[in-house]
Parts: sequence; C-alpha cells; structure tokens
Amino acid sequence: MGAALLPAAIAALVLFCFDPRRYHFYPTCVFHQATGMLCAGCGSLRALHQLLHGHFASAFRFNPLLIIAMPFAGWLGARWVWCKANNQPASPRFRPMWLWGLLVILIGFTLLRNLPGLPLAMLPP
Ligand SMILES: [Zn+2]
Repeated sequence: MGAALLPAAIAALVLFCFDPRRYHFYPTCVFHQATGMLCAGCGSLRALHQLLHGHFASAFRFNPLLIIAMPFAGWLGARWVWCKANNQPASPRFRPMWLWGLLVILIGFTLLRNLPGLPLAMLPP
C-alpha cells in the first residue's frame, strides 16, 4: 500500500512546489494542442496546485468538474486503502450505467467548456 501512495505523494509535492503556470515541464493536453479547445481535464494540474495551497475558489475556476469529483475520488481512495488494509479485493465494481453516466458528464462538460460566452469556456491566466 505504501509503495502505491509514494508516487502520489511525490507528485503532490512536485505540484505543490512548482506552479504549472510558471513551470512548463508538465505534460500538455494533446486535445487542446490539436484543436485549441478545452477538454474535461484541461486546467486540472493548475486546479490541483491551487487546491494544494488551499485556494479552493481558484481551483474551482481552473476545473470545476475536478473539484466536484474530489469527494468521489476521496471516497474511492479511502475505500481502496480500507480494502487493502483488510486484505479484501480493492477493485471497485462499477455498474455499466455509472460508466456511461461518467462518459456523458465528461462529454457534456467538454461541450460546455467550448461554448463561447460561458464562464467555463475560459481558463484563468
Ligand atoms: Zn485538455
């Protein structure tokens, strides 16, 4: 379990120390590079950097879907840790309907981000 958490802790430390707006060694979004449009994940690194510094509102402006999804991700992470600690299978069993719902949310959010005039269409500088 510790070996799996170590890379996440190192990534969080790097993200905490190096703002993705100032340091350009982070991976860039292939979808954004190819189309100039924002995908559902665009702004996630900047949002996580802001979140690690406790700037919740700023994180929300960079990627609201990511911030809304954090409690669910936290629940999945806590469940994974609990299952590993109790020697139970840790892979979550998602119903296909949930995965289809997630896909609809991701596509819908991507579409909303690319409609001109909506606040979601712009990332903060
Ligand atoms: Zn993107």
